[in-house]
Amino acid sequence: MAISSSATRILATLGPATSSPEMIRELVEAGANAFRLNFSHGVKEDHAERYNTIRAVAEETGKPITVLADLQGPKLRIGTVDEDVVLEKGDRFIFDQTGEQGNRSRVTLPHPEIFDAILPGHRMMVNDGKLQFIVRTVDTGIIETEVLVGGKLTDRKGVNVPDVSLDISPLTEKDRADLDFALSLGVDWVALSFVQRVSDIIEARSIIKDRAAIMVKIEKPQALEILEDLIIATDGVMIARGDLGVELPPERIPGAQKDITRICRKVGKPVVVATQMLESMIDNPMPTRAEASDVATAVMDGVDCVMLSAETASGSFPVESVSIMHRILRETEEREGYFDSLQMIWQESHTTYHAVAESATSLARHINAAAVVAFSASGTTAVRLSRERPSLPIVMMTPKQAIRQRMNFLWGMNSILTDQFDSFDEALDGISRLMLENKMGQPGDQVIVVAGTPFGVSGTTNTIRVLNLHKPR
Ligand code: PGA
Ligand code: MN
Repeated sequence: MAISSSATRILATLGPATSSPEMIRELVEAGANAFRLNFSHGVKEDHAERYNTIRAVAEETGKPITVLADLQGPKLRIGTVDEDVVLEKGDRFIFDQTGEQGNRSRVTLPHPEIFDAILPGHRMMVNDGKLQFIVRTVDTGIIETEVLVGGKLTDRKGVNVPDVSLDISPLTEKDRADLDFALSLGVDWVALSFVQRVSDIIEARSIIKDRAAIMVKIEKPQALEILEDLIIATDGVMIARGDLGVELPPERIPGAQKDITRICRKVGKPVVVATQMLESMIDNPMPTRAEASDVATAVMDGVDCVMLSAETASGSFPVESVSIMHRILRETEEREGYFDSLQMIWQESHTTYHAVAESATSLARHINAAAVVAFSASGTTAVRLSRERPSLPIVMMTPKQAIRQRMNFLWGMNSILTDQFDSFDEALDGISRLMLENKMGQPGDQVIVVAGTPFGVSGTTNTIRVLNLHKPR
């Protein structure tokens, strides 16, 4: 197994442009490590078909591809509107709950929670923030606003209310049905949209249990205020710059991205940067300089993964988008000083587990080891090694294919499927054999093995062993 992949990973959203087996195979060959099924669009059958195709391509290519089901969440929308409604700055405009078709002076907003929480002076945005309103008065079932930024108003456009925290479950009826369906397919991760509280994660986990890992999408300003608590409670994080960028002014996005990345790396949770990374490639075969620079910046910050949305789901150049993204990742990672710049001084959160992982990678460097191997049934030891961002290969050995899939979008992660071993000594022999078989080392090379002992207790990372690779005895 040659390690030709970039350490930073690519998550590509599938959609109408990328449903065929040929396309999905081409995306994998171009460098996609993980795929997103976006439940905001499409019907269940589409997702099932794409899911099955991904697993077939994974089997064929031998790559443990990650599949993420992204739930729509409580996306707020207005009702329908007459044709040709254009609002102008200074107009009075009403949101109500009548359920009637909207016009130039009013529209239905079928979300009572907003009426309970919103106050005069709060902002409302429609259609990704393109139309903006300020609330003047609130009465039973009526929000009267003034138009700050006008424009054309059309059916069922999304609504953002950045100034209020809504008393609303992160899982709508649709989400619950989609979640059941996604879990029955066997997805590796579930992404929760518009998370506002730690209890949102706990609620989802009570349904998901250990069938999939949970990725929290940070796309509400309220989430930024409790970042560290959210990151501790979740398994992974997506910096969802699309909706976050509607609710926050653009100048706050870069700083928010840095803060989220830093805390994820400190706590040791994988982090994905999402939305508009190569936006212009929806229609063009080449990205802008600014987009190339945005991808490179995420790499230099040490994120685990970068995401493509419409670029691959519905754009005209999906394969080119992945392949150029992969080139940017490789080029940036090959720059001198890349690994040094990723080393962080962890003054806080130095748990025993993280200290073991740090010592293991440092030992591996000192003895010029061929790799640092996480022997990991649950994957947690491997996550902790990846957190160290070492300059030598990380190999996770696990008896569970589902764990290989779950971890494939983590920074620098390689993995090999093993047998079930009963003792540490038996595992060491197995590791030696598999490293040689997979051409990840030569007889006589040393590798560092990190594990949790006793075996079978999930979550422990407490053992470091120097292993000389040897031909099977
Ligand atoms: P979405 O999430 O594409 O599902 O909206 C990502 C984002 O908001 O950036
Ligand atoms: Mn979003």
